[in-house]
Amino acid sequence: MSAGEIVPDPDDPGHRTPNHFAGGALDRAVTRRADPAWVDSKRRDPSTRVVPVWRSHSLVQGEARSFEPVLLSGGAARSLGSEEPDWVFLGLEGDRAIFAAELEAGSAGEPPLSDLGEFHDLHRVGAMLGRSEGSLLAYARAVVTWSRRHRFCGCCGHPTAPRDGGHVRRCANDSCGEDHFPRTDPAIIVLVSDGDRCLLGRKDIWPEGVYSTLAGFVEPGESLSEAVIREVHEESGIEVGNVRYRSSQPWPFPSSLMLGFHADRVGGELRIDGEELADARWFRREDFTRRREIGLRLPSRVSIARRLIRDWLAGT
Ligand SMILES: [Zn+2]
Repeated sequence: MSAGEIVPDPDDPGHRTPNHFAGGALDRAVTRRADPAWVDSKRRDPSTRVVPVWRSHSLVQGEARSFEPVLLSGGAARSLGSEEPDWVFLGLEGDRAIFAAELEAGSAGEPPLSDLGEFHDLHRVGAMLGRSEGSLLAYARAVVTWSRRHRFCGCCGHPTAPRDGGHVRRCANDSCGEDHFPRTDPAIIVLVSDGDRCLLGRKDIWPEGVYSTLAGFVEPGESLSEAVIREVHEESGIEVGNVRYRSSQPWPFPSSLMLGFHADRVGGELRIDGEELADARWFRREDFTRRREIGLRLPSRVSIARRLIRDWLAGT
């Protein structure tokens, strides 16, 4: 068992075409957002737009198979009780600033803005949004969720206050003053192949027939290829090597970054612990062409898992 090389190939389509929730067009203007006067002026600029997030859901409008995000004016966001200092600056679209803001639940718990669209779980509607639009909503959801979960300092328990356009929360306790930064949790996801077959597993909670690539969080003190080798072995008993990076995907449910790999089986036999996976099987290429016949269902079109399988089938 060896870690193998992780060498991205710049000509590989896996690196050129962004996955869902990646490929955003905003200029994040990282150096500008450190200037509080500039951020304040953008908050008050009439051209500014605000991406609303309500109970981790995103506001969209459109037909069943094609949605668009609904953005609010600053005035509309303020009228819904959203406090300006809590808006998070996402970036610039030309000169226009885009912020994200969490909306409070109404007294009856009803979603607001029902005249403009509907709040949906991005996980469910992601495949029905354009890449850039899906990326914007994923970014907004991720950073708003982080901000809400870090209102208090993890070092001393005092309240924190936003700065740098909301991308830092600083502890208000003078004797602490810790800066907290948005959290991103790396997770590996890997298609393991052995010649003409690939390894897919399923969890009990998934819809019947769905099999997907193996995945797990990277642990502290671990490299990506080490995480791939460990996770596959833990979940399936299979030993892998020749770990190749394919592409990555922001996965804001709530804060993961999925790092996609292909790897080769180098040993071990399939055994399922029944804890993390309910089942795992080797599927041959021909099994994917007769999916209906054998009752195999693939993971969501929005997922990098689907992409990893598709790339392997295409031989790229
Ligand atoms: Zn503190």
